[in-house]
Amino acid sequence: MSLQPLLDGGLRPLVQALARRSVSATEVAQAYLDRIAVANPLLNALITVDPAATLREAALADTRLASASTTPGSGSAAAALAGVPIVHKDIFCAEGWRTTCGSRMLDNFIAPYDAGVIERFKAAGATTLARANMDEFAMGSSNEHSWYGPVRNPWDLQRVPGGSSGGSAACVAAGLAPAATGTDTGGSIRQPAAWCGVSGIKPTYGRVSRYGMIAYASSLDQGGAFARSADDLALLLDVMSGHDVRDSTSVAREDAPFSASVGRDVRGLRVGIPREWFGTGLSAGVGAAVKAALAQLQALGCELVDVSLPASSHAIPAYYVIAPAEASSNLSRFDGVRFGHRTADYHDLNELYERSRAEGFGAEVKRRILIGSYVLSHGYYDAYYLQAQKVRRLIANDFALAFESCDLIAGPVTPESAFMLGSNSSDPTSMYLADIYTIPVNLAGLPALSVPAGFDAGLPVGLQLVGPWWQEGRLLQVADAYQRSTDWHLQRPAALKGEGA
Ligand code: GLN
Repeated sequence: MSLQPLLDGGLRPLVQALARRSVSATEVAQAYLDRIAVANPLLNALITVDPAATLREAALADTRLASASTTPGSGSAAAALAGVPIVHKDIFCAEGWRTTCGSRMLDNFIAPYDAGVIERFKAAGATTLARANMDEFAMGSSNEHSWYGPVRNPWDLQRVPGGSSGGSAACVAAGLAPAATGTDTGGSIRQPAAWCGVSGIKPTYGRVSRYGMIAYASSLDQGGAFARSADDLALLLDVMSGHDVRDSTSVAREDAPFSASVGRDVRGLRVGIPREWFGTGLSAGVGAAVKAALAQLQALGCELVDVSLPASSHAIPAYYVIAPAEASSNLSRFDGVRFGHRTADYHDLNELYERSRAEGFGAEVKRRILIGSYVLSHGYYDAYYLQAQKVRRLIANDFALAFESCDLIAGPVTPESAFMLGSNSSDPTSMYLADIYTIPVNLAGLPALSVPAGFDAGLPVGLQLVGPWWQEGRLLQVADAYQRSTDWHLQRPAALKGEGA
């Protein structure tokens, strides 16, 4: 039997086939590993592939699946993702796995424990397929800032996949994994999801544990997932989310399972269209696809309403004060003493710190540490950091006001589609603009997702949906209804055809 349809058919059929034992976890893992062996040299989407470790986990999953199917009365007791192989962004600590965060600083770091997210995937029976490439310490929008080299976009190998979770997005787009984890501090799930033509969700801040997720900007970082459909994202979010006492910002809530949100009618929902997101800066190709998607939501019975987010225009400057400030503090732990890279050449403690950090960090990370240290320093704190925090509050207030007249917000994910590798590397500010529609959402801590919504000259375009706090279910409901009536999420990249992927 060809495994092909099962590998590309989404999570539910795969979970069912594994539970029925018409295919084994080992066969599934091996089939994806075979695809990885062929396509990853072209994409560079993965930092660590360890087939032996993956197959050990798969064998264990097979034992569990076998006992679940033979123990009377436990037929439905099999865990939600039993035997499903998942790619994890290389930012989540996973016991025994090298966890580099895309940095030379952690090139030799083997995590001694599991992140909260990894624990939950394990408890759900999932196996680890590989570890995804990413921008160093999740800083970037193109995946060109990885110590392990850039990731290539499966739709056009000369283009970037987006970042910072570009490896995760590229893997799902190229069919190297049925799902992958990611993190989103300013857009790092939604933006690569949009550029790679896959579905990606960034939950409400506090929904998914940050324990063991290497910190970039702690007040903004949020773990989430990539998959082929909103339906799959709902399943993944059910597994990933939940209270964790080891993360003081994790929130205890009893929400209905997200899987219960899909398959439902969306008639009568009010979709807010922020007028500031459709002005200058939005490219014609992306704008046209997004507008067609909005018309489709209208055809499904949603009501489109005009909303305004006036403070959004200050989101990027505010973010590039707050995020580097937090990063400069978080990254001070990498000093060459306890873990990570240590210079071979030092004479005293200061030299050990300086050289280890000079050698271990890349240029973009150093830029952020310098900006962060500057804005936090005496005399500048009030002028920059405090001002940025006030802008952050204004942005959150804008959203709160908008949600008085709508149930969710819809718009573009990025102003443009994926750019050519290297074309933005000499100009950090133009790179930072790629996140203009995603960053306000992180500053406000809201849930948001991106779903494929057409093409701009052959390159995928994403539709962004943003919800009020804790309303991921509503976003998934609308995204699922959209996907039931369109087939953008089913399109596959031609660039890899004939490569076995
Ligand atoms: N591109 C943004 C940055 O470089 C966002 C990254 C992210 O979401 N991790 O900070």
